[in-house]
Amino acid sequence: MPIRQLAPDVAAKIAAGEVVERPASVVKELVENALDAGARHIRVELANGGLGLIRVSDDGCGIPSEELPLAFARHATSKVQALGDLERIASLGFRGEALASIGAVAEVTLLSRPRAAALGAQMAVVEGETGLPAPAGAPAGTTVTVRDLFASVPGRLKFLKTRGTETGRCVHLVEQYALAFPEVRFTVVSEGRQVFTTPGDGKLASVLVAVYGLAVAEHMVPLDGTDDTTSAQPEPERVPAAAAAAPATRPQVSGYVSRPSCYKSTRGYLSFFVNRRWVQSRTLNFAVEEAYHSLLLAGRHPIAVINVALDPAQLDANVHPAKTEVRFLYERQVFAAVQRAVRAAVLATAEAPEVSSRAFAIPDWTSPAVPASADAPRASASDTSLWGRTPAGAEGQPGRTADADAPAAGSDAGGFAVPGAADAAVGGHKLPVMRVLGQVSQSYIITEGPDGVYMVDQHAAHERVLLERMIAEWRSRAVSSQLLLQPVPVELAPAEREPIEEHLDALAQIGFAIEPFGGDALLVRALPAVLAAQTRPQPLRELLLELAGGGAEAASHGETWEEHALANVACKAAIKAGQTLTPEEQRELIRQLEGASAYQSCCHGRPTMVHLSLSALERQFDRR
Ligand code: ADP
Ligand code: MG
Repeated sequence: MPIRQLAPDVAAKIAAGEVVERPASVVKELVENALDAGARHIRVELANGGLGLIRVSDDGCGIPSEELPLAFARHATSKVQALGDLERIASLGFRGEALASIGAVAEVTLLSRPRAAALGAQMAVVEGETGLPAPAGAPAGTTVTVRDLFASVPGRLKFLKTRGTETGRCVHLVEQYALAFPEVRFTVVSEGRQVFTTPGDGKLASVLVAVYGLAVAEHMVPLDGTDDTTSAQPEPERVPAAAAAAPATRPQVSGYVSRPSCYKSTRGYLSFFVNRRWVQSRTLNFAVEEAYHSLLLAGRHPIAVINVALDPAQLDANVHPAKTEVRFLYERQVFAAVQRAVRAAVLATAEAPEVSSRAFAIPDWTSPAVPASADAPRASASDTSLWGRTPAGAEGQPGRTADADAPAAGSDAGGFAVPGAADAAVGGHKLPVMRVLGQVSQSYIITEGPDGVYMVDQHAAHERVLLERMIAEWRSRAVSSQLLLQPVPVELAPAEREPIEEHLDALAQIGFAIEPFGGDALLVRALPAVLAAQTRPQPLRELLLELAGGGAEAASHGETWEEHALANVACKAAIKAGQTLTPEEQRELIRQLEGASAYQSCCHGRPTMVHLSLSALERQFDRR
């Protein structure tokens, strides 16, 4: 499409953009233009943090010389024509404003040659004054040179950070686009030195190495549906009318996310693209953090590079001056798709943390388990996925612990006709069958698995097992509750009673039966079955207060009140460190853990196990 001035009614519909805030904003606009032009190689040169020079060269379609003056005109664009086009934007640019705005605050030169043209043309804009295009020799493609940015607007300079920071922002920006376009080769040169480059081989994994380094990239796992060869397909210039007319298309989520063992201390490592447009999105941030729920400790954040492909008609890209925010027509659907894809990927490949940080070996959970010795009869397929499917009674006394104060769930044999475990269907991967070797320090169970030794924290593991079972029960509205032969009265202060009373219904959902008992006292008639033996009034009072007050914390973790409460109950009910377990109990706990889907961490994100691989052992003993 030729560059044309937008009709006034179309121009008026475009969110006004103060696009040039800092050097990185210029880089963003120029790189987007190069990508829209179908470039396969984009080179960005910077001097003095971009204030001295920004030069972006591409090998894209180029601009015919007669259109050069229009490129600098406000609301002149080749990407949008009619109002309807704004409803399904397939290009990164659409406002026809960037070059005009940059030309107003810097000295800009545009050199371009369409592939078919014998000669290129050059044109300059100085202090907003457009010169005339002049013929010039040029390689096919476009080079935009921006000099002395903000020299005429000293006020803007004041808001800029140091040269290093501004350079960093520019490089970060190119990195983001490199992640979105693995088939494009990017090069960034700053102060004459190459600071970033990607191979442009179409593999997102290659870009991950370039951006985050090999050590991190090795800990990233692809989302289901991520296929490097397909993501290399260039986006169509325009969306075919048929695709735009089909509203039922579901969002396609692809990309890479970090294993729970690899994390950062800030949220700054989440990159989101919608139809390969780099966006900031609270919704998407939240979906990813949610997917790591209970797998990362508080204060730890994942690394993620995620593209959501969806019908442009289900999207409004025209809501933010810098186009870095989008509005989803079906926000919940997008949220759910991202959360599901990330959760599945993380659960599918999560591994126990390695004892030796030198080892990158990741155990292959899908390979057949090692033969187990007679000491630990190998569980049949139905056994391993079992716990929770068969009534506990059929398994003997699963989960029974030595301490009468903390009987595990199994003691209430009748109530456990649980449907499929909560998240099992998502991950599909389970812990392999492990042979129990013994208990250490009354806290850890040592086992042998397919690749070496696993040290399991008995409390964390039991907590995980209990939580998954209770969540499954709760979801199917079949929470096992234990009626108390002797109801327990709990004395409360007036201010304490109120929040608990507000939650009586919710507490009933998770297995409590509580009623008023005169004055400020409450009478506990039933408990979640896992807590059946914990009937001392004082701890019960503390637990109730904790549960009633847990709303805010639950919300901050993106979980429902009930999920948060169940995690709390699981923690209280789980066997503690310091408890001696019989060999039978140790084996039972491990069997149960084998059935859990998020077996690698407890409700709070602490690991349930640590792995010492055979290769790590061999290295330690200098066998290789
Ligand atoms: P927009 O990208 O919103 O259309 P711009 O002001 O960024 O507006 O660019 C105006 C027009 O100039 C574009 O529509 C495009 O036709 C042309 N243009 C700008 N940069 C390039 C480039 N690198 N290669 C080819 N054409 C370009
Ligand atoms: Mg543009």
